[in-house]
Amino acid sequence: MRPCPICSKGNVLLIEIIPLLGYNDYPINGPYILSQCGDCGFYYGNVSASQTDLDNYYINLSKYENIDTIAMGSGGITPLDQMRLQKTFRNVLKYINDKAISILDVGCANGGLLHVFQSNGYLNIHGNDPSRICALRTKQNLGCIVYEGSFFKVDFERTFDLVTVTHVLEHVIDVLGFMRKILSILNEDGIIYLECPDANSYNKVIHSPNQEFNTEHINHFDSSDYYNLAFILDVEYIDSGSISFSTETNNEYFASFGVLRKRKVDHSNDKFRRDSTTDHAIKDYLKSSFMAMVNLLNCSEFNRGNRIFMYGIGQLSFKLIAMLESMNCNLILYDGDTRNKGKKIGNYVVQYGNDIVFENFEADDVILICSIISFTSIKNSLITFFNDSKKVAPNFISIQDLM
Ligand SMILES: [Zn+2]
Repeated sequence: MRPCPICSKGNVLLIEIIPLLGYNDYPINGPYILSQCGDCGFYYGNVSASQTDLDNYYINLSKYENIDTIAMGSGGITPLDQMRLQKTFRNVLKYINDKAISILDVGCANGGLLHVFQSNGYLNIHGNDPSRICALRTKQNLGCIVYEGSFFKVDFERTFDLVTVTHVLEHVIDVLGFMRKILSILNEDGIIYLECPDANSYNKVIHSPNQEFNTEHINHFDSSDYYNLAFILDVEYIDSGSISFSTETNNEYFASFGVLRKRKVDHSNDKFRRDSTTDHAIKDYLKSSFMAMVNLLNCSEFNRGNRIFMYGIGQLSFKLIAMLESMNCNLILYDGDTRNKGKKIGNYVVQYGNDIVFENFEADDVILICSIISFTSIKNSLITFFNDSKKVAPNFISIQDLM
């Protein structure tokens, strides 16, 4: 059992078990066990993987390496992602006042946030990423030092004035170890800027059922959790809050942020802060997700014994596969990313996307495209592919139509 990542206590409440079936080589690939700390109130996934398992996963499987599959969170490659990073940058600016400060961006992906710092005159920038390709790309694009490898293992051999960690900490098993490593490379009075998905806002937009509880996001921060981190680490709490970004589906995406300073503070009279509205947000999100999933599973497409060719195997598919398998549906899995070719999900073998054209389709077969963002572009490219091969395409259905 995973103790609380913030306060290390073992007073764990089981909140929900969410069926999920991921790629067999993922360190987190079984049901998602959503838990809450009975002491500090933190919500987290009770996973059995180790930090080393996760480190290796991010070294080998970084989704940001493949330019074809990137979207939100890519590190500034899409216009929307550039807007997101501009907003984060402006948020960080409230807590710094000197362009000469040394900055380290942990989990810099393709260097998007560092690029914004650089183009605003902050030239003392450094990156760190577990992915070799991301580290190289950032180094080439920005001409700055990028430390390649797991943040836990890199020897930085220097200290920094500002460490930014955006959309990284929700992926980490050993949160306190991660924070202590930051403190070890931070100058006295240095600033830590943390940003993660906002658990207090999960229920505001349901992108797809239980999307926030997935094979990568195992910590669920609201703004009070950053205070609790400062309290546990005996450093100064500066600020926390929520900011929102636009997404490809025209919905808002909400992030929580926290700002801490490396300065000894007497916390002996403090206690944990709890935001009870987060309890409501999580309950509400689970309920809405459950209803959305029930609606999906009641669709005739899943209940008439036809073959379902699932195309695009990601987080939503992982939950659908777990449910459809238990309903004995006839599933065949395809994914457009060559790196997933031949991989297994439970007993299913994932086939390479373009090979779908070689299937002998029957009249009531359907191709279910499991990407909400890219449904139209995937459908159009598959239709072109069928036409070029002089084959008749079966019916396409989108998850969005079914929900
Ligand atoms: Zn706790």
